[in-house]
Amino acid sequence: MPHDVINPATEQVVATVALCDVEDTDAAIARAVRAQRSWRALAPAERGRLLRRFAAAVDADIETLARLEVSNSGHTIGNARGEASNVRDVLEYYAAAPDRLFGKQIPVADGVNITFQEPLGVVGVIVPWNFPMPIAAWGFAPALAAGNAVVLKPAELTPLTAIRLGELALRAGLPEGLLQVLPGRGSVVGERFVTHPDVRKVVFTGSTAVGQRIMAGCASQVKRVTLELGGKSANIVFGDADLERAAATAPHGVFDNAGQDCCARSRILVQRNVYDRFMELLEPAVRGVVVGDPSDALTEMGPLISAQHRAKVAGYVPDGAPVAFRGDAPTGDGFWFPPTVLATGLTDPAFTEEIFGPVVAVVPFDDEADAVRIANDTEYGLSGSIWTRDVARALRVSRAVEAGNLSVNSHSSVRYNTPFGGFKQSGLGRELGPDALDAFTETKNVFIPTSEGA
Ligand code: NAD
Repeated sequence: MPHDVINPATEQVVATVALCDVEDTDAAIARAVRAQRSWRALAPAERGRLLRRFAAAVDADIETLARLEVSNSGHTIGNARGEASNVRDVLEYYAAAPDRLFGKQIPVADGVNITFQEPLGVVGVIVPWNFPMPIAAWGFAPALAAGNAVVLKPAELTPLTAIRLGELALRAGLPEGLLQVLPGRGSVVGERFVTHPDVRKVVFTGSTAVGQRIMAGCASQVKRVTLELGGKSANIVFGDADLERAAATAPHGVFDNAGQDCCARSRILVQRNVYDRFMELLEPAVRGVVVGDPSDALTEMGPLISAQHRAKVAGYVPDGAPVAFRGDAPTGDGFWFPPTVLATGLTDPAFTEEIFGPVVAVVPFDDEADAVRIANDTEYGLSGSIWTRDVARALRVSRAVEAGNLSVNSHSSVRYNTPFGGFKQSGLGRELGPDALDAFTETKNVFIPTSEGA
């Protein structure tokens, strides 16, 4: 079935992609089962070498991948280059893993006990449209490094860079069938990953509603699952903070990728005694965000992904909404939406629900306990920032906020060498960092007797 891929900055069709059906998916999974058997039989150092070649192929293709992402997803060219580079870095990082996938020798009586980290088999990776390249790589790179094969479903709206990454893998010499990209509908290809018994694990990034459904579906086969879901993260600004820096960087913390970021700091909590001063400083920073043609290197924010998504975002800013101030956005073709700051109350849907667009809600708080209470008053728990000059407070609040990824006096983005994931309904399990390989292996215990008494 052909499917038009739209440039969100121009509304023009940039490509037509054939969508896979259930039969295509089953055939791909069968190929992946065969490919995985030969992949795990390869010498570990050889697997590492092939992953490094894949990283090199991505490195040589960064400009093409980035341009493709600009036209498919409306990402700014600077961000898109960073995202393609991230794929290379994640591959290089995990390319070191195959011959370092250590087990343990555990002291026991009457014999030798050793453990092995065995691959799972075929892993299904389901990717959302907001960061098509990095999120794909965070799944496939450690999965392949741990000895698995991968079937990967990009989002319907943004399949182009994933398809190209699949081609680069083959060009780099990865065996046929080892990493297959299957464009298709979530309800068809994604669901089949959940129901097919030869897919031994599903890595899902997307909305909490779909993640819950996938977890429930996986339960019937006790299928392993990693979930990276939504967020409504708090940017907490204390009265003793460097307010100039906190205000200057707050737009980046929420409006990067037009707010279509699960880690977007979309709730700003400001201590009441500096609230007015912070808003004074925030206003020029927001008005200064350069929104426009994403292929222009000076652009800081592009369009939203689709007309449907823009309508959803606009629903959070109805007539009469408590708009404090807004930036500019182009008019005409493209799914544009201006950076928008709302001075809401604590129960306004714009303050409580994930908007996934360039809308941020600001509220005052009284003291540290109040800040922590407001920050934690959500089912989400993905990321957040804490601005203060008091190191002890920075640590106390970091420990008290129920979220997986916090940054102090910064809006740290995801690092491939540190763990990433959510508390509460923001997810299950961790990606990236040294421990991600555990999520793609089973521990096997083997005992060998060395004495009669065993
Ligand atoms: P979505 O849940 O609608 O779709 C995500 C992926 O799941 C797509 O590939 C889609 O085709 C597929 N899918 C849809 N229904 C399915 C089903 N029944 N079975 C299997 N697969 C199915 O999410 P989206 O709108 O593409 O992405 C936005 C959401 O993703 C936001 O909520 C955002 O917070 C979240 N997100 C989270 C992270 C994180 O790491 N925590 C990162 C990026 C995005």
